[in-house]
Amino acid sequence: MAVKKSDQRSLNEKLFLVVFFPAVLIFYVIHKYPYWLLGPDGDLTTFHVLGKSPGFWYGTVYTGLVCGTCLWVLISNRNQYQRSKKKGPLSTYQRNKFRSILIVQFVAFYFAPYVLPGLRQDGGFFNDPGRVATKAAHVYVFPAFTSPGLAVYMFLVIPVAVWFFGKRYCSWFCACGNLAETVGVLPWGQKWVRLYTPRGKTSEKLEVIQFICLGFAVVFGVMLLLDGMKFFSATNALDAMQSTQDLIIDFVFGSVVGVGAYPIFGTRVWCRYGCPMAQGMKLFGRFSRSKFAVVPNDKCRGLGVCTEACPMGIDVAAYAHKDKKPIEVSFGLTETPCIGCGGCIDVCPVEALSFAPIGKDGKAIIVATESKS
Ligand code: SF4
Ligand code: SF4
Ligand code: SF4
Repeated sequence: MAVKKSDQRSLNEKLFLVVFFPAVLIFYVIHKYPYWLLGPDGDLTTFHVLGKSPGFWYGTVYTGLVCGTCLWVLISNRNQYQRSKKKGPLSTYQRNKFRSILIVQFVAFYFAPYVLPGLRQDGGFFNDPGRVATKAAHVYVFPAFTSPGLAVYMFLVIPVAVWFFGKRYCSWFCACGNLAETVGVLPWGQKWVRLYTPRGKTSEKLEVIQFICLGFAVVFGVMLLLDGMKFFSATNALDAMQSTQDLIIDFVFGSVVGVGAYPIFGTRVWCRYGCPMAQGMKLFGRFSRSKFAVVPNDKCRGLGVCTEACPMGIDVAAYAHKDKKPIEVSFGLTETPCIGCGGCIDVCPVEALSFAPIGKDGKAIIVATESKS
């Protein structure tokens, strides 16, 4: 099928591609493995700018992009998903989602980790000490085995949220998801999601990689716990697992590919194939029969734009019609890795989709169609 002219990469986009991936790669090397460039005795402040660490500047650019895009969407009141109909105002769902992303990103993922510590440090705000970045984010699951606070968060708060809301955490709150969600409504980002997100049976089978990442995280977490309790110690194995976590899972997969490959595989390749927490949420939702579901109604006309809008590569249209006749089969976390972004719902020109909870009988409880105002 011929590619539409508007879908071809422009010269500016091609130039961006040439610069973007190397820039992401170089940044993460500086941020996480500075001694690769500096040598073992190098001065970690070499990469500081105005006395601030690379991590601070990365957080500033990242948060600026996320929050700037949220403000643009909220102020312009444009519904980025409504390409297939006259662009109407933002739906209530999208408005609340972008409000949530804006506040959470700024307060929890920028002000608290980057600004507050700088205000308190010796030598003033513009005098960061040289240190190697360590990342043990909760999305990697294993930190929950050694931190009581994270254990409550991971094994109590998150499952309860999944029970009621599915994986909306990924489209409303998570720092990694905040970038994916906002880039996904920018003009190029929309196109990357629509054209380059892996779809189809093979891409679904590859989701097994995420099981492997979760299995690794759980084994690593349990070994750290046993080691901390002095029940069992295998220092060499723990060191090897820590190196694997840092280099393969966090650096290569979660950072360089997870962000650098947005223009090649869409915005959610890490969320669909890597993130251990996402697989944990999906499994929990599946076995606890989470109440969350996307539900088609009998208005579906088989236009298929819902599938194109899905950043997780879900064939939404297959749950809504067969041979262009509505089939009204709901789907939730049992069948798919849906993150509840609402893109498919808003993009549908005939309002054939909505979120609805699943009742005890396993059928969707239709309360009302999502408000569009
Ligand atoms: S899949 Fe993981 S990294 Fe992606 S948004 Fe969800 S929790 Fe965050
Ligand atoms: S749900 Fe809407 S967008 Fe999806 S196939 Fe049906 S009519 Fe088209
Ligand atoms: S199925 Fe719809 S709500 Fe779920 S992730 Fe895809 S676009 Fe978002």
